[in-house]
Amino acid sequence: MIAVTGATGQLGRLVVTGLLDAGVPAAEVTALVRDEARAADLAARGVQVAVADYTDPTGLRAALTGVDRLLLVSGSEVGQRVAQHTNVVEAAVAAGVGLLVYTSAPKADATTLVLAPEHAATERAIAAAGIPAVVLRNNWYWENYDTQVQQAAATGQLAGSSGAGRAFPASRADFAAAAVAVLTDEQASPGVHELGGDQPFVLADLAAEVGRQTGTEVVCADLSADEHRAVLLGAGLDEGTAGFVVALDGNIAAGELDAGQGGISALTGRPTRTLAEHVALVLGR
Ligand code: NDP
Repeated sequence: MIAVTGATGQLGRLVVTGLLDAGVPAAEVTALVRDEARAADLAARGVQVAVADYTDPTGLRAALTGVDRLLLVSGSEVGQRVAQHTNVVEAAVAAGVGLLVYTSAPKADATTLVLAPEHAATERAIAAAGIPAVVLRNNWYWENYDTQVQQAAATGQLAGSSGAGRAFPASRADFAAAAVAVLTDEQASPGVHELGGDQPFVLADLAAEVGRQTGTEVVCADLSADEHRAVLLGAGLDEGTAGFVVALDGNIAAGELDAGQGGISALTGRPTRTLAEHVALVLGR
């Protein structure tokens, strides 16, 4: 039995359907969810559905009984996640799960990336538990840029403070395919994979690609952190959100997402979605 947490989330759902597409019988797949009603479509395909909240150790242990391989999709409740993920890890150990796969962050154990501490702590909890584990350090989703793609197409303007900092984004579907490859590989060996798309990306590439596809000029303003914060506040973001976005861009400028090139393709045997392909999808071209 292969179980996937966060199965009603965007990545988890893609992994569940990806397992079915890879030929895993639906009866051998368990979707772990908080709200069973939101998994009705998966149940209709024959997938097992079990309720498992990261905050409920007893429920987690019951839901993981009989599970051989588990994908722990990192949660979305920032600040709560170390305790939540640790609950899942401990339940997996108690249930005798044979392989735990965890979605982490780029270079999680050696980075200033503002999102990384909870992932690094989870990686440490997994190591301390002694359970065989594969850590998938996922780079950025292309989908993180969708609003900027729309804005750039509408206004001819793009702004950020990530400078020449490189990332290796790929689509959620690509990251899901990598997880499916690991979960279905009988020979999968424990370890850490830095996972990213095939090509490096800097923000100016986004402006150039949107401009190419719309046939208009898109200017990419490379701002200082203070200028960027002012632009975001002017656009109506609150202080906390603006500070977070600027901190992330600072991380990118410092090279914290410069990792994982070709990591997904190495697992899936397929190229990842290109920037041009993703922009075309967002713009409906
Ligand atoms: P989503 O927000 O779509 O999914 C998060 C999933 O986590 C949801 O299914 C949610 O359940 C589940 N979850 C949250 N808290 C709990 C809990 N207490 N108990 C059980 N389940 C819980 O995010 P994505 O699928 O897009 O991404 C997956 C994860 O990757 C994110 O949660 C985040 O950690 C990380 N991420 C990575 C990004 C990247 O660029 N690499 C960008 C953004 C996030 P429910 O469906 O019930 O809400």
